[in-house]
Amino acid sequence: MKWEKEARRQRLKNHEKWFHRPLHYGEDVELIVFPGTYSVGVANLGFQFLLSELASRNRPFDRYFADPLLPEDRSFDTGRDIKDFRRWDITLSYEENLLELLKMLLRLGIPLNGAERDFPLLNIGGAMTYVNPQLTAYLANEYFAGEADGIWPEVRQRETWKVSDHFGVHSSVISPEGVFGDTFLVEVARGCVWQCKFCLYKAAYGKLRLVPLDHVFSAMALARERGVTKIGFVAANVSDVPWIHEVLEKAYVLGMKASVSSLAVETLDGDTMLLLRRLGVQQLTLGVEHGDEGTRLRLGKPYPDDRLVELAIKAQELGFRGLKLYFINGVTPDPEFNASSAVALLKKIVTRVHLDVKVSASVFVPKRGTPLFDAPFPEQDAIEAERNLLRKELTGVTFTFEPYYEAQKEFVMSRLIPEQLSAFVDLLAVSEKKAVRTFAELMR
Ligand code: SF4
Repeated sequence: MKWEKEARRQRLKNHEKWFHRPLHYGEDVELIVFPGTYSVGVANLGFQFLLSELASRNRPFDRYFADPLLPEDRSFDTGRDIKDFRRWDITLSYEENLLELLKMLLRLGIPLNGAERDFPLLNIGGAMTYVNPQLTAYLANEYFAGEADGIWPEVRQRETWKVSDHFGVHSSVISPEGVFGDTFLVEVARGCVWQCKFCLYKAAYGKLRLVPLDHVFSAMALARERGVTKIGFVAANVSDVPWIHEVLEKAYVLGMKASVSSLAVETLDGDTMLLLRRLGVQQLTLGVEHGDEGTRLRLGKPYPDDRLVELAIKAQELGFRGLKLYFINGVTPDPEFNASSAVALLKKIVTRVHLDVKVSASVFVPKRGTPLFDAPFPEQDAIEAERNLLRKELTGVTFTFEPYYEAQKEFVMSRLIPEQLSAFVDLLAVSEKKAVRTFAELMR
């Protein structure tokens, strides 16, 4: 219903808290587009980067989220027709965003090929320019590859992927309806110290680079001054950051609660765990990836099972309630081996501690730029067999499995090239599932 969507837009706007004063009227108002839902977009640091760069220069902007529960084709801030905006700034973080952008352009009757379009002018950036440079460049009028910190919006185009020396994004706006609630996000590092062979993030963002500590402290002070009590520290693994103890101490002194994106089994220590507990963290999130030590070593995760078990015991001693463990299904072509090694490792944990153990498992997708790019994309039957064995053999563990279809979407959107677009679009007109599944089979 139209009025329900409009009421939701108003309600979401009323509940937002800004840290830069947004300007929505004036000359050349730009539309910042997130091809995904409001709750994901408002918590996305790439999207927040675009907001803060325009807001800090007093340049007017409006926002648009491709959200089925918001008014279709109307801007979020002022309710204007989105086709009235001359320039759209678009961050494409994930394959899902690229697919949503295609669907959005088709729905609005906007030509997909940037070379055939004068208006709107699409300025496209984000991780998808690394994952699928051909398709993102084809869609864009202004294509920006790599990290834009320190140069965007003065520079709108760059063909080659580069990382930045000066960066450090924090929330420009927070919302209780964002996926992290009204947590103020502060980036503390980019890149990663590890070399996981399947990891697109490492391939794109390279070695670990730290945000200057004073920059992190200023962001925390800003949040505190504005009455925020929850802060979320963002890095590939917060425990890899050498001065993370100082930051966590500071959050405690400021009287804040904290959350962290993810922690590395190799670098998480008792002191960091203690500080996290003091900041109200109840659950530790760790990337395990596979149950077998040798396979982990080959993947670039060189820690023994005992290390994870020791962390679980320490977590229980310190009063944590649970562990959230990330696994990848389909890492080897043998579902029985994948499942039985995960079962053996998880049993070592659940027989030693009474923590709430949650396993969140994605499907292995071979990504561009990673050493495993040529590895086969797992068959659905193999993934289901692995998951059925896990469920059968383990009680007392909660599983969340990424739907196989989501992995197919990632696989297809990371490899779709402009020459295939017209056939893909024809199938998309029948149904999204038809298009994705057909191309997933073709691309194997
Ligand atoms: S630790 Fe995480 S971010 Fe770093 S390389 Fe491995 S998977 Fe990638």
